Amino acid sequence: MLTTGCDAVDDLLLGGFPPGIVSELCGVAGSGKTQLALQLLLRAQLPTDQGGLDGRSCYMYTDSLSPLKRLNELAQNYKNDEVSLDKIFLEIATDPMQLLNALKTRLPTLLDRHKVRLVVIDAITAVFRGIAVDSAADAGDRSKIMFEMVNCMRILAAQYDVVFVVINQMTTNMTVGIVPALGLAWSTCVNQRFQLAKVKNPSFRSFKTIFSPYLPSEKSALFEITASKLQ
Ligand code: ADP
Repeated sequence: MLTTGCDAVDDLLLGGFPPGIVSELCGVAGSGKTQLALQLLLRAQLPTDQGGLDGRSCYMYTDSLSPLKRLNELAQNYKNDEVSLDKIFLEIATDPMQLLNALKTRLPTLLDRHKVRLVVIDAITAVFRGIAVDSAADAGDRSKIMFEMVNCMRILAAQYDVVFVVINQMTTNMTVGIVPALGLAWSTCVNQRFQLAKVKNPSFRSFKTIFSPYLPSEKSALFEITASKLQ
């Protein structure tokens, strides 16, 4: 289990994020998905008796903004040598084929040879943004790549028994309002989904279980978000 460092969230998760399955974090912009993911990248390095995975991590990011500045801010919160940005592999993939290739070739190497225990994709949605779906054939191609990606994620998560977190954004649906992007088909492929949301108090966010094979749905916990820590 990989703890988040936020007690209420860890309690809700019955300890933390489990290895071997794909967990999705969804939520609107500013709900804290990236901040939580970056904290996980650092916490994965902690010894297991401190809630970490005693390993390295891999952050696959899909917009061109480097996470280094934010990781540095968060790393200030740890004791000397407890965490190191050198133990985080950063991989950028800005289109679907780049991400698929990274999942099929680069990631297995990292998992095999570099003691990577956590993989984060931030955000799966971004690689599909701007890709025109002008016809049923285009939509079919997009779904095919999406399924291939999530299949890779599930196989790697299980084969290497690593924690796998994929971030998804929200989209507006004319009939049901704001919902996680990528549709029903995608949602049936991830093993569990959690939704982060802003709350009245601007320093806090909520973390809610939407579905999970072992957790009750619609349970939520509050956590506090700052530049240097989530708690
Ligand atoms: P999301 O990934 O859901 O869009 P973020 O994780 O980027 O959301 O969360 C944004 C929140 O994280 C901001 O509201 C802010 O409080 C906090 N934060 C802390 N440091 C930074 C930073 N360097 N850049 C952006 N947001 C930051």
